[in-house]
Amino acid sequence: MKSAAKFDVIIVGAGISGLYMLFQMRELGLSALVIEAGGGVGGTWYWNRYPGARCDTDTIEYSYSFDEDLQQEWVWPERYPTQSEILNYLNHVADRFDLRKDIRFNTRVEAAVFDEKARRWQVGTDDGAALTARFLIMATGSISEPNIPKIDGMESFRGPIHHTARWPHEGVELAGKRVAVIGTGSSAVQAIPVIAEQAAQLTVFQRSPQWSVPAHNRPVDPDFVAEIKADYAGFRARNRLESGAQLSHIPANDFSAAELSEEERRRVLEERWQLGGFPFFGAFKDITVSLESNKATADFVRDKIRAIVNDPAVAEMLTPDYTIHCKRPVLDSGYFETYNRPNVRLVDLRATPIQAIRPSGIRTSEAEHEFDLIVLATGFDNMTGALLRIDIRGRGGLSLREAWAEGPVNYLGLQVSGFPNLFTITGPGSPSVLTNMMVAIEQHVEWVAECIRFMISNDHALIEATEEAQVAWVARVNEVANATLWVSCHNWYQGDNIPGKPRVFMPLPGFPPYVEKCEDVVANGYAGFLLS
Ligand code: NAP
Repeated sequence: MKSAAKFDVIIVGAGISGLYMLFQMRELGLSALVIEAGGGVGGTWYWNRYPGARCDTDTIEYSYSFDEDLQQEWVWPERYPTQSEILNYLNHVADRFDLRKDIRFNTRVEAAVFDEKARRWQVGTDDGAALTARFLIMATGSISEPNIPKIDGMESFRGPIHHTARWPHEGVELAGKRVAVIGTGSSAVQAIPVIAEQAAQLTVFQRSPQWSVPAHNRPVDPDFVAEIKADYAGFRARNRLESGAQLSHIPANDFSAAELSEEERRRVLEERWQLGGFPFFGAFKDITVSLESNKATADFVRDKIRAIVNDPAVAEMLTPDYTIHCKRPVLDSGYFETYNRPNVRLVDLRATPIQAIRPSGIRTSEAEHEFDLIVLATGFDNMTGALLRIDIRGRGGLSLREAWAEGPVNYLGLQVSGFPNLFTITGPGSPSVLTNMMVAIEQHVEWVAECIRFMISNDHALIEATEEAQVAWVARVNEVANATLWVSCHNWYQGDNIPGKPRVFMPLPGFPPYVEKCEDVVANGYAGFLLS
């Protein structure tokens, strides 16, 4: 039998986390291999090529901060970056730091087993390769495992069915086609206006109406960029002090709706609506905890939807009845306006659920709809899906699937008790998806790199979260989440979108206190971890 190829570190995934992790491991002089299922770098931005795909974090913030020359030199054309611009950027990073030579593309990790005797991880891939490493780092992404719903008759459809996160690289011809989009999350809200412009007909199948606010994309203002770049490090540092690790230049207002008259509330909300993007949700300081501020914001958006959408019945279908900002906020460029087009129809799946996919289209409880193409904008098995699809086994053969049968448990979102030397980047239990992901990723990667450096210089073979620290951490995440309105609706933060998934709030609200905790843990000799 061929002996396994040995590395100090194996990193799974060549997205934003994996690339930076590799860079950091090289800085420590370690041998590192990145294993990537895709044919190129980029992770999310490699896979999500649907029409209109764009990030909704401002370009000035959605980039690495670890290299001053890189952040000074790179120029983004618009307020929000498109998928292809981000992919170009990540390819540039891979080339600039010569990362590709340590990345194995088109290879999927199937299993990872901790060998207690050798104190190494054995990693198996779909091409049959056997690899071992002292450290295993899961840079598999929080939003990367597509959710393909099980609908009767799906395989019988005569045309193509494309998930937004597996969009064909060569593009899809939409002209003259009758297109169905299932889902109305961030991906759908971006894709729908673009598809509507190109297709002959578009029918949107909506399970939950979506709160969406205008993105107000525009070319970047060169003076603004010059101002930021004059002290980019300072800008980044200020963003890290915000709860969402972003937007320090447009912070949330410091008052709640309760402090204002009806007229003042409207004025403040209108100002924020004109700013567009995430700053809208900062009209009041407490939209995620105060029902009054939340309702004032929601009522304002309800009125906007009614004013934009011409047909009152369609406007009603598009108007959500749950707390705003409870599902992950969505930004759009002409989403509600799209329903005024004569070639666009909306089907409310609550009133008329899908019964089956037929060779010619989709059958609901009310009608047969004929299509040439079906788009699944049905989202992801978020935060745990990409980890649990791999058969990961720690001490005593304990499988991660068993350990997480009731929902994910870990310490700091970084390590699971019973799985020594295994780290997750932006895992559940960390701020991750409630922040600017770039910032969350850099913080995690840097913490893990420092931890590994510490272990090597102090001759520690293993690091492992203790069971007690893990139990306390999970309790803390629940306590923080339960004090917010994020638990007041059905959302993917709690796994509500996946049938049978345990209902557990997965990300941790609040970036600055989390960072403080991570730093305290280090200052106290990795408190809550066992080093041996
Ligand atoms: P998503 O937000 O989970 O939306 C999925 C949509 O599909 C929802 O409307 C959902 O309805 C619906 N759905 C799921 N299963 C269904 C079924 N069986 N039948 C009918 N409808 C079904 O997924 P996404 O839009 O891909 O976005 C996921 C996350 O990725 C976002 O929240 C965001 O964090 C990130 N993202 C960001 C950007 C950006 O930066 N601009 C763009 C895209 C995605 P329910 O709401 O009822 O579950």
